[in-house]
Amino acid sequence: MKSVPDPDYRRSLFYPATVLVEEGAADYPLTRSILSRLKKAEVVSVKRPAGNDFSNLSRLYSPQTTLFLAPHRGRFLKACPGTAETYRCCLYQILHLGLGCNIGCSYCVLQGYLNNPFITQFVNLDDAFAELDTELGKPGVFYRIGTGEFTDSLFMDPLTDLAPRLIDYFGTCKNAILELKTKSVAISSLLDYPGEIGETVVSWSLNAPSVTAREEGFAASITERLQAAALCRERGYRIGLHFDPLLFFPGWEEGYRQTVAEIFKYLKGDDIIWISIGAFRFMPQVKDVLRDNHADCNITAGEFIRGLDGKQRYFSEIRRQLYRLLVTEIKKYAPEVFIYFCMEDKCLWQDTFGYAPADNAELGRWLDECCWRYAANG
Ligand code: SF4
Repeated sequence: MKSVPDPDYRRSLFYPATVLVEEGAADYPLTRSILSRLKKAEVVSVKRPAGNDFSNLSRLYSPQTTLFLAPHRGRFLKACPGTAETYRCCLYQILHLGLGCNIGCSYCVLQGYLNNPFITQFVNLDDAFAELDTELGKPGVFYRIGTGEFTDSLFMDPLTDLAPRLIDYFGTCKNAILELKTKSVAISSLLDYPGEIGETVVSWSLNAPSVTAREEGFAASITERLQAAALCRERGYRIGLHFDPLLFFPGWEEGYRQTVAEIFKYLKGDDIIWISIGAFRFMPQVKDVLRDNHADCNITAGEFIRGLDGKQRYFSEIRRQLYRLLVTEIKKYAPEVFIYFCMEDKCLWQDTFGYAPADNAELGRWLDECCWRYAANG
């Protein structure tokens, strides 16, 4: 087995003290396999939560140390909640296999969205694969699918062993690419994957080192993430990078310069399939939750405007400065790498790159083309 870069990597992983197993979830193979790896955990059977049940359960069991196992009853594949056409969305699809994460970033949008406070793993995987079979059977459509929107894709992998199953599945798909997005270095199962790696991108979210230390809880350091990325690249995975959320703080220029320089100590431009950039934005209701959960955090303290999607954003002049610096720095090291904005308006695209996608479909096509180009070049 190859060693992961940081001997202390387990700090960003999740080993719950209690597992709540929803009635009807106990017989799924994934439930049995997770429980077999958590021999010391207290296992409690619970009814399907309704009404205030989650809030009552959270008084009995700490969400920080409790895992909830349940079957998912809705659709597994969802369009990324990119909103108004004003902001360009890349038409990504989310494979919804779990909820929540223990990394504890102060800016995590999930704090404002979820009524279920527990880290949740959906256990009816066969239903998810059956839905994928039907959806991906549609002719003429290419899918970019990620598992890292409502959770971190890998932080629980040592418990679930899901990554190899997903790589198996997507390895046989001709019209889809899988992206596993993380701030952890839980890559053992990726490095030990025994077969041919198909179309799988492993992506790391990056930020300035001071932001990581201050705002990203138990996440691996930037250097650890990039060391993990280099090992994954060596094993044959494509690497994606995401600078999101970019924060505006005293010393931001130097901080982001440092991170960009660090990237290219470990990766070459050709190793990277795409880099996305998105400035900090949040729904107004998240502000109070964020203050309650992270008393020392002041990232919502500046001036913001309300965007057309209802989210608070930095003024466009601040976004422009952040984007210009990031793009200029990245291009110094990797002039050809594909950089795109996540949920940004046409004017800032035009301003930064000198071009803009006409609509969401065009941005989606550019990313699809990255996948095909990369596949052609190996
Ligand atoms: S890693 Fe992602 S999902 Fe986890 S707390 Fe941070 S922002 Fe939220």
